[in-house]
Amino acid sequence: MARRKLIAGNWKMNGGRNSISELRGIAEAARAHVAVDVAIALPATLIGLAAEQVPELPIGAQDVHAVDKGPHTGCISAGMIREAGARFSIVGHSERRCDQHETDAEVRAKAEALHRCGLGAILCVGEQLADRDAGRAEAVVTEQLAGSLPADASGEWLSIAYEPIWAIGTGRTPTVEDVAAMHGAIRARLHELIGDAADGVRLLYGGSVTGDNAGELLAAGDVDGALVGGASLTAAKFAPIIAAGAALA
Ligand code: PEP
Repeated sequence: MARRKLIAGNWKMNGGRNSISELRGIAEAARAHVAVDVAIALPATLIGLAAEQVPELPIGAQDVHAVDKGPHTGCISAGMIREAGARFSIVGHSERRCDQHETDAEVRAKAEALHRCGLGAILCVGEQLADRDAGRAEAVVTEQLAGSLPADASGEWLSIAYEPIWAIGTGRTPTVEDVAAMHGAIRARLHELIGDAADGVRLLYGGSVTGDNAGELLAAGDVDGALVGGASLTAAKFAPIIAAGAALA
């Protein structure tokens, strides 16, 4: 099945009101490369402003709470980010799985909350370096996938981002062969879990993607896009990654 490539940025805890011009630059790069989908996950404080000022660029959040409302001080629900103008959220990023000790069950519940609100989800999975060195990366990642997969995982609303934890923000990446092997394993496990609907789910690679390596990583087998942290913070660095995706479309 042909899947459009998705180049998604994750600004993490970066950006403020003065970042709107960067988002306009990213929107311009997206307009120049309509063969790929482009989206940016922003800090919650910026979602409303960005959705208002740059309406053509799909804006998302980086996390949501699993329930719709209630006594959860400091948390934000899927309905709230939708009202602010978000169209999707990341869930299960390793920085939340590790720092906030989020479990697979919590990640699954968050993805399901997004789906209830008609929003998209980018669900992250990835192994620690010790897992890869011990030869158990595929087992760890496919188990995470099975534990985090939302109930209705069929359709375009869901993307899975494979992000080896040791590659995030380090400048290190797996080999293209390792990326292809992991994406193949994820696709195969998805087939076991949801049957043919697995063919509609986009698999993104994330971890130190730059304009220099995007071409080869995006060309790897079963890679339908990228989730990009550091290199998504400026239009100058993100635009070449968008262009690399479009060149393969
Ligand atoms: C990320 O945190 O999702 C990520 C991929 O970061 P970076 O591109 O900076 O490695």
